[in-house]
Amino acid sequence: MIDPNAFKLASKRLFDLAPWPKPQLERFLEVFKELEPARRYRLSPNYLAEKINLDLATTAELMLFAVKAGLLRMTWASHCPSCGSLVHGMGELNQLEQNFYCTLCELDNSNELDDQVEINFSLAAEIAEPNFDPFRSYVDYTYFLFSEHIRRSEEFSCYLKDKAFQHYIGIDPGESATINYQGQPGELLRLLSLENDARIYIDIGQGPGQGEVTLRPAGFDCNRIELGSGPVRIIINNQSGRRAGFMLLLTDMAKLNQILQKTPPYFAPFLSGKQMLNSQHFRELFPVQSLPVDLSLKVRDQCILFTDLKGSTELYGKTGDIAAYKLVRRHFELLTDAVKTHRGAIVKTMGDAIMASFNEPADGLEAAFMMIEEVNAFNLSKGEEKLGLKIGLHRGRAIAVNANQSLDFFGQTVNLAARVQGLAQAGEIWITEPVHQDPKVRQLITGHHFDAKASKAHLKGIVQEQAVFCLVKT
Ligand SMILES: [Zn+2]
Repeated sequence: MIDPNAFKLASKRLFDLAPWPKPQLERFLEVFKELEPARRYRLSPNYLAEKINLDLATTAELMLFAVKAGLLRMTWASHCPSCGSLVHGMGELNQLEQNFYCTLCELDNSNELDDQVEINFSLAAEIAEPNFDPFRSYVDYTYFLFSEHIRRSEEFSCYLKDKAFQHYIGIDPGESATINYQGQPGELLRLLSLENDARIYIDIGQGPGQGEVTLRPAGFDCNRIELGSGPVRIIINNQSGRRAGFMLLLTDMAKLNQILQKTPPYFAPFLSGKQMLNSQHFRELFPVQSLPVDLSLKVRDQCILFTDLKGSTELYGKTGDIAAYKLVRRHFELLTDAVKTHRGAIVKTMGDAIMASFNEPADGLEAAFMMIEEVNAFNLSKGEEKLGLKIGLHRGRAIAVNANQSLDFFGQTVNLAARVQGLAQAGEIWITEPVHQDPKVRQLITGHHFDAKASKAHLKGIVQEQAVFCLVKT
């Protein structure tokens, strides 16, 4: 049941916080009242977007405000790219790790914020207990264990359902239960408790007809047992201190890998960790205070934009400190607007320069065009060229790090973005080859009546000559 008072209070906070029309917020709040327990436990932005008939990006923004208002809780979880199983115990950003192991596929995965880290939400504990018992049935258990964005091939689904999964059982802490199985000689089984990352191998061969295993907080008390063929009984003691799920699987990794290679699953679009780091709303609503100092997470394809102001020293000399300061402040407002409008985030400011990040190069370039247009309009309104903006963009791998209690990006991609910005004169946008390669970027350049003038440049600190493009008005 939803606590009506807590819900009312949180709804009021949402109306105060979120810059959306009231009817839209009301429709959003209506959905909460009819959520089934599984959705209270995990409310994906995709599900909600469909319910309230909004696009995924806008829904995600709305959900961020709902977190701030105390209606929702946000979770960060990595999923295995092969099977879609979620790594449990990673609910917070600071619990994510660079690599993780999938107990089901027996694979080491590199954790990239683009593709593997998904953001989900649940109802805040103050609003309602989810009343969702993931261990009640096999269906609930799989909902709990797997990303709902994975789309498995028919072959993979059939294999899991008909062959691999033999038995499922949920056991209360301190309790025991038995799985009965008809063992075939030579079979190798796995007994898994995925949410505990626990695994035990069971050989069907010459052993006894009954075996007993115990799950403790650190995992199973042994790695392997052998049982005889024919009817076997596996007694499971749950001493882990919490309710747990157990699955008995036929271990046929060769067959599983063959299916995965032939018909790999794909993931429907979901709200990724990368999109969150590139959201100005996220950065403004949740200033990061408690991140570990050694945080470093991989992003496979990050777009970075740098800007600088032309001759700001002269500007201060010419107009005086107070007037110049006002101008620079106004310029920051214009830039921040452009970044927000195009789904990006201001990572930091350095003097009169900014560093911004975007999910896609096309977003970054659109923001760059808007910045130039806004600054031109501002100069026109003043009757002279007060401000001259120089912009550079690059994309590539980067590491998200905690620098001075904020989420920064680090790596050669960032260095190159700064260097290519250094080539720009006032009013110019410079981009690198990987940015120019994006078809959406090329469409935008033409659409804005610009030409990309190619050249080669030696960028400071980088040995090889780089292909760079200056965007000029046609
Ligand atoms: Zn897996």
